[in-house]
Amino acid sequence: MSQTWNRECDLESFVAFSLEEHEIPSCIWSEAALSIYGLPMSEESDLNSTAWIIPDILLGVTCLVLHNKKFSLCVDRNCDLLSGHGFHPPPDMHIHVKPDSEHGGITHDLTFYRKSRVFWAFPDPPLGAPAPDDPTYMLVTDARLPEHPDERGRQPTGNYPVKILTPARYIEGTILLALRDLVGSANEFHWSSVVQHLWELVADEENDLVTLDDLSGPFGEHMKHFGQYYFFKDLSIHENGRKYIFEVHSKMKEFKKLPPAEVMNIANRHVSYGLPPGKWEGDSLYDGSDCFYFQ
Ligand SMILES: [Zn+2]
Repeated sequence: MSQTWNRECDLESFVAFSLEEHEIPSCIWSEAALSIYGLPMSEESDLNSTAWIIPDILLGVTCLVLHNKKFSLCVDRNCDLLSGHGFHPPPDMHIHVKPDSEHGGITHDLTFYRKSRVFWAFPDPPLGAPAPDDPTYMLVTDARLPEHPDERGRQPTGNYPVKILTPARYIEGTILLALRDLVGSANEFHWSSVVQHLWELVADEENDLVTLDDLSGPFGEHMKHFGQYYFFKDLSIHENGRKYIFEVHSKMKEFKKLPPAEVMNIANRHVSYGLPPGKWEGDSLYDGSDCFYFQ
């Protein structure tokens, strides 16, 4: 890519602008978002990456737009991000942004996920800035976000708007992921570790960004019982939490309130993606070269 950058927020803003000028709404999540909420991140956390949610039907166009912006989409089938053993579930499409000399030689990964894989319960992100009272999305520059000396915290203003989920929706979405993949998924331990991490955000008395009371419907109860299940050494409390969570899982599955658990089959999921030139009339983005993404 020809653009240079030395702050994550500049790169993220450039990506959001590049997508939205083609009417592709986006939202960042995962470690980048958690750090912006002010959640303490461990050294093992993958902070040299930004994960994005994209409406399902726009993933192919996203691929073409970024390709046209000189980003090189990774097509390496042996890439660590696709191994299934990485920190995150493998993305649908990703890019390794090579650093400029000012960025200390660290590659920054951009990973893209279809919205239905991660936050299916919520509406698509809006284009541009969300309304100030939008219950689902907010800007990374929102005054409600904490300024944080050690984590990313509230981001500097002046860039093109980048969106994140409001913290309450983020927690609710992660609870749904943990329930979806509670049994029979390669992601089971991943989501449980994220729920445990989010407990730190809820319990952090110095960060009043979100509390259990901010969670809607049954999610406050769900989160409380996840806490009992994961953290309580007292066996009866731990068992009470475990029983509650598995009963909720079982009921939601029975009434088809959860998608099937995500089972990654790496060998069968890497497909080529290519559309004939002229598919998008009046749009010159497609230059005839193949793009690849994970479907
Ligand atoms: Zn790669």
